[in-house]
Amino acid sequence: MIKTLSIITLLLSCLLYNGCAVNPATGENQIMLVSSSQEAEMGRQYAPEVEKQLGGRISNSALQNYVSSVGQRIARVSHLPNSQFSYTAVNDDSINAMALPGGYIFITKGLLSKLNSEAQLAGILGHETAHVTARHAAQAMTTQIGMDLALSVASDHSSAGAAQMANIGSQLISLRYSREHENQADSIGMDYMVRAGYSPNAMIETMEILERESQSRSIEFFSTHPNPGNRKQTLQEQIYVNNYPSGKTGDSDYKQFVLNNL
Ligand SMILES: [Zn+2]
Repeated sequence: MIKTLSIITLLLSCLLYNGCAVNPATGENQIMLVSSSQEAEMGRQYAPEVEKQLGGRISNSALQNYVSSVGQRIARVSHLPNSQFSYTAVNDDSINAMALPGGYIFITKGLLSKLNSEAQLAGILGHETAHVTARHAAQAMTTQIGMDLALSVASDHSSAGAAQMANIGSQLISLRYSREHENQADSIGMDYMVRAGYSPNAMIETMEILERESQSRSIEFFSTHPNPGNRKQTLQEQIYVNNYPSGKTGDSDYKQFVLNNL
């Protein structure tokens, strides 16, 4: 009954507020109570707060430019090639990566230090970019925090506003995705990295690295991105079915621009 009511409410909202939209990455018609411009505004308002809470940007321009260039290569072949995306490496020691609605993507020092090739970095950034293009980030934000609340807090410049900004910033860092969205982000993200010229096997390697790390410590990435059981197998099938080219790995560039600069 409650479910039926909420569907009716959503449908009414859809009719009244023109909230039906085609999902750019999945092609599905879905009810979105948030417009793309609200998403972008939300990300723009909160990105500085999230960056601050993650220890700030790593202050090495060669490293930042490199991470950004790999990210932009992914963004340009994504379902939203003309949208703005930003890719920032932050000082946090946790093993994590995250996406804010509107295309603000962060990867931690802790995660960067565990990877060993450009293609693996492209796999992580591809996965996070897919959470944005498939509007998972906006949906998680809408259901877990509330877009109206976030936008109204962002426009309040009092000290109470600043405290609330900090609170919402930390909630954004721990936005959680469903297993279904994780599977979608893996699949779409792998497609992006292949289109950008990278080896798809590297995405499977990143999962093996994360799994290995999770045996000795708790991995923040898994608390926000739940691990669907047969993730690796599903991706191996995707590689096989699509007969993807082998693509580049970029081990030496990753070492030069990232590992040597951490
Ligand atoms: Zn994810």
